[in-house]
Amino acid sequence: MEFEPVIGLEVHAQLLTRSKLFCGCSTQFGAPPNANTCPVCLGLPGALPVLNREAVTMATRAALALDCRINSTSIFARKNYFYPDLPKGYQISQFDRPLGERGRVETLSGERNETGKIVNRRMKVFGITRLHMEEDAGKSLHEGMPDNDQKSYVNLNRSGVPLVEIVSEPDFRSSQEAYDYLIQLRKTLLYLGVCDGNMEEGSLRCDANVSIRPRGAERFGTKVEIKNLNSFRFLQRALDYEIERQKGVIAGGGEISQETRLWDEASGRTFVMRTKEEAHDYRYFPEPDLPPLKLSEEWVEQLRRTLPELPAAKSSRFASEYGLSEDDALQLAATQAQADYFELCARASGNPRSSAHWIMGDLTYALKSSGKEIHECPLSAHDLADLIRSVHSGRISGKIGKTVFEEMFKSGEPADTVIRRLGLVQISDAATLGAVIEKVKESNPKQLADYRAGKDKLFGFFVGQVMKETRGQANPALVNELLEKALKS
Ligand SMILES: [Zn+2]
Repeated sequence: MEFEPVIGLEVHAQLLTRSKLFCGCSTQFGAPPNANTCPVCLGLPGALPVLNREAVTMATRAALALDCRINSTSIFARKNYFYPDLPKGYQISQFDRPLGERGRVETLSGERNETGKIVNRRMKVFGITRLHMEEDAGKSLHEGMPDNDQKSYVNLNRSGVPLVEIVSEPDFRSSQEAYDYLIQLRKTLLYLGVCDGNMEEGSLRCDANVSIRPRGAERFGTKVEIKNLNSFRFLQRALDYEIERQKGVIAGGGEISQETRLWDEASGRTFVMRTKEEAHDYRYFPEPDLPPLKLSEEWVEQLRRTLPELPAAKSSRFASEYGLSEDDALQLAATQAQADYFELCARASGNPRSSAHWIMGDLTYALKSSGKEIHECPLSAHDLADLIRSVHSGRISGKIGKTVFEEMFKSGEPADTVIRRLGLVQISDAATLGAVIEKVKESNPKQLADYRAGKDKLFGFFVGQVMKETRGQANPALVNELLEKALKS
């Protein structure tokens, strides 16, 4: 029997507010342990939560960007459980009336073939069940401290930091689809500036629900929850492992049990964290310390109108407006900063394709090798546009262009300064080049005789010699034209 996986994702994204969800404590990452705490986020008796307006704004913008229907009234609820990093004994979340519902993510997605190459890419739509706000818990430290063999520590700096939880529909039929969805979701949050998307620091976290069923079946199989998917690579590897594990269990006549498993990257396996019998019963009830959250239609519409152009819309505009391929447009629109850089450069140079080429090639390479992000790039988009114009006007050759680029990246100087300083202006003067050609002919009598005797391939040799003599500055088209004549006479 052939099986298909059914996957859903639950993503927690930390909102980029400066203060916590229900108190004024700082959300800064890396502060000394427990420095960012107060009676509210420590859960001391009598302390009362006050909702952070900026967090509501950011969460609503995210919900709108993900095409969710916004509930004009949403309710905060207590999710009760005991854990040392949760001093109140409950987490304030939203339960049966979340901020947003029934959204979607539209993105290009494909399949991996046996060689790992992505094929059959096309636009797909994945549903979002809900988006709700909640506070984060603190962090228990079971390792990394000198006496961790006897003690555990707790750091409550993260306690009360605002999150949105985004729950997808069980719409993914492969690990690749889940991966593509998460990439697009992250990109959207980054464009909005509501989350920094940093999976290593935990500001974007992902859990997955996985089951398998006979291909074509209506009913879902028993689902297993996988936690601890701290990178895109972990997500894909964990899903692939879990799908195969479940197939193996069923092929062996066994049954899948409903449980929560953890991904262990070192062993490349998932293992049981808790079974259904140990599952929490959170006993949700409406939070008595907070009134229902009411959003006016006017306020929501105001936010909707001020949403930025989102990644999907931007890449399709890049493709149609600038005549780029779908893949190039997608790559250039990967981040807001890169998209802005491209667009400035394309407009200033009047040459979008060349701009795309430089940005995805030499510029990306130079940034990667120097460990810089595009917003730290030593060349402004206008500087790169000047360089592109210098190449296209024939002032310098394409090859010299690369040298000039490297120098600009190193020194931060404009193209013109580098070209003048290094004396790299292209030689397009027929008399000067004619003299060089004569010199090359004189120094290579044997090759000249062979060429004249019919060894046409030697033409390239002469081009190379002229280029060498002029340190690559000769105008290649003119060299070809002049050599054609000069070698015959
Ligand atoms: Zn606090």
